[in-house]
Amino acid sequence: PVQLRWNEVDRYLEQQLIGPDSLMENVLKNNHAAGLPPFDVTPTQGKFLHLLVQLCGAKHVLEIGTLGGYSTIWMARALPEDGHIVTLEVSPHHAETAARNFKLAGLEERITIRTGDALEQLAHMNQELYAPFDLIFIDADKPNNPHYLNWALHFSRPGTVIVGDNVVREGEIIDHLSSDPRIQGVRSFYDQLRNEPRVSATALQTVGSKGYDGFMIGIVNG
Ligand code: SAM
Repeated sequence: PVQLRWNEVDRYLEQQLIGPDSLMENVLKNNHAAGLPPFDVTPTQGKFLHLLVQLCGAKHVLEIGTLGGYSTIWMARALPEDGHIVTLEVSPHHAETAARNFKLAGLEERITIRTGDALEQLAHMNQELYAPFDLIFIDADKPNNPHYLNWALHFSRPGTVIVGDNVVREGEIIDHLSSDPRIQGVRSFYDQLRNEPRVSATALQTVGSKGYDGFMIGIVNG
């Protein structure tokens, strides 16, 4: 079946382009041992996020949806010495697991985890007068994607890059009658992007060891 082929190709790409990475492998092992669901990005996607941080010279990154911090560590490793990531996670157990992983990676000083509902945390952050972020990665509960996009715009400056994960969902996003709130959340997100003059965006369909899905990537205009 085609999924096996996607797995093999991902493995090949990992060998050729990433190589052995015992830290990242241990992070995934810790997440598994802690009983976290396997919803982390894949290694090739993690490397993609890492490259994006470098490509836009990001110093301040916001992530919505930490899980065990796998994607966070990929991005944090691309930051300059004075760079920082704020990552938002509703589950205390996920956040504690991520905090252990950040320590293991020696990156705990570069990463702030804010535990609690992301919409509440974003409202608190608004009171704390955060500077705009250079890159914002939206990867939490998909029904809230439209709200996350609004907050992402709020915490942006011209040039900020906004990335959204799981925006294809095995093609289900074209089903306008879907009763799945995640599909409807992603569809509303696209409606918003279509009508939002401040963002220029595209989406790429992806296949790999996590199946058939996609990334949205957009830039906030001046
Ligand atoms: N970015 C992670 C990675 O690639 O390693 C994966 C994140 S996982 C797809 C989504 C995470 O969002 C889960 O850990 C979940 O607990 C969290 N989440 C769900 N609803 C949330 C909410 N309302 N606020 C904050 N986090 C939430």
